Amino acid sequence: MIETEEAEALEVPVRAGREVVEQQRVGKTTYRLEKVKCGKQGCKCTDGELHGPYWYSYRKQSGKLKSQYVGKQLKTNETSGDRPDE
Ligand SMILES: [Zn+2]
Repeated sequence: MIETEEAEALEVPVRAGREVVEQQRVGKTTYRLEKVKCGKQGCKCTDGELHGPYWYSYRKQSGKLKSQYVGKQLKTNETSGDRPDE
């Protein structure tokens, strides 16, 4: 039996100031390990030392791209507790 993979390419734009470290596709969800800028003045990230990397999940929901913070560890069951200190 041939597995018909959801070939719908999920185009996830990289947000300004972010750096993509790794990307993984699980079903319709794209998981991406990103280094982020918090935007605080005087923070180390303004000098290019970004925070993270943290995992984010991206999926299309009724035509809209939904992103969700996952955490430092990739958990594909979407139960996360910790958040980045912002
Ligand atoms: Zn920062």
